[in-house]
Amino acid sequence: MSHRDACLVINAGSSSLKFSVFCGAGRSDLEAVLTGQISGIGTAPRFEAKDAARHVLADGILDEVGPGDRAGLLGFLLTWMRHELRDVRLVAAGHRVVHGGTRFDAPVRLTPAVLAELEALVPLAPLHQPHNIAAMTALAEVYPELPQVACFDTAFHRTRPWQAQMFALPRELTDEGVRRYGFHGLSYEYIAQRLPQIAPELAEARVVVCHLGSGSSLCGMRAGRSVDTTMGFTALDGLPMGTRPGAIDPGVLIYLMREKGMGPDELERLLYHKSGLLGVSGVSNDMRALLDSENPQAAEAVELFCFQVAKQAAGLAAAMGGLDAVVFTAGVGENSAPVRARVAEKLGWLGVHLDGAANRARATRISAADSRVPVFVIPTDEERMIASHTLAILARNAVHPPLAA
Ligand code: AMP
Repeated sequence: MSHRDACLVINAGSSSLKFSVFCGAGRSDLEAVLTGQISGIGTAPRFEAKDAARHVLADGILDEVGPGDRAGLLGFLLTWMRHELRDVRLVAAGHRVVHGGTRFDAPVRLTPAVLAELEALVPLAPLHQPHNIAAMTALAEVYPELPQVACFDTAFHRTRPWQAQMFALPRELTDEGVRRYGFHGLSYEYIAQRLPQIAPELAEARVVVCHLGSGSSLCGMRAGRSVDTTMGFTALDGLPMGTRPGAIDPGVLIYLMREKGMGPDELERLLYHKSGLLGVSGVSNDMRALLDSENPQAAEAVELFCFQVAKQAAGLAAAMGGLDAVVFTAGVGENSAPVRARVAEKLGWLGVHLDGAANRARATRISAADSRVPVFVIPTDEERMIASHTLAILARNAVHPPLAA
């Protein structure tokens, strides 16, 4: 039987590990053949997988290995894949890694030295980086010959001018790494490649990309390179999100510490899990539920969100010296016509006008014919971006794939 080369893509969180498998040799011919996740890691792991047509291939409790045994769980996944995808040969794994610090401005092949550098970055992303690293070390344990590649959420934003990367803090803190890094880079990089395929005349354009999901940020990019972005040192900055407040006056934190006696753990819970759309509405962190709700606080949460998206988008237009196009992507950006309409209305003075019917039908180009600024809805695909990077690194390094997975 002839085998097709495949790349395993892993996005590891605290209690879940999302995976997908892409077949093909590179960017232009990548085919997603499998997606799935192991959820409930540490408590009651559950394994789910779907094929390219979204047919369920597996869905059930996984009790063969210990609930927190990541190597065991990955070993199970590899064995399952060997049976399920008989014509596929795994040649590499690509990981989504939240933080590449100032050092990594591109994906990198995992070596012991790189792993040590990623570990040194844990203090910058303590809620995410350890889980990314745990998945890499677990995979290396069960399949040491498999080349692994780390793809960073921060890397795309390393092209920003220094003004966009620096806080107005004492130099020592900047030198120590307290900087605006920016996140969602793999999503923005995918959009940067995709937009010129859809609209070649915009290859050099100044574009605001609105990545609006459960985590949300904006990126101003010129000619496909990041000029500025709304997230900063952490993924807390910028826009209000499902459960995060976005930018708040840091004086609020001093007040909460002093007057409410809050420590770092309580602040972290407040800022990561209790704020944003959920905190304002008291109803839900899910935009769908808020749009369906009769509760006036739900409407306020939606309005607060759209206000900040438009306001911060205009700030990015200023950072780029103009605005030539807007792109909406991710869960809310791709699926919520009312949110897109509200944001566009607020950007009308910049020359943004939607075609209502195209917006409701979720066309690719949703701007009115006479809109100075064209507006697009482009589904993001971070996993494809990771697979593409991973296979490119493999080809560049001429790493010989293992004989068979
Ligand atoms: P993501 O993080 O990109 O997967 O986005 C997830 C979020 O997208 C969910 O929390 C929902 O709030 C939002 N979402 C998905 N579908 C819709 C929809 N049809 N209308 C509004 N929001 C949606």
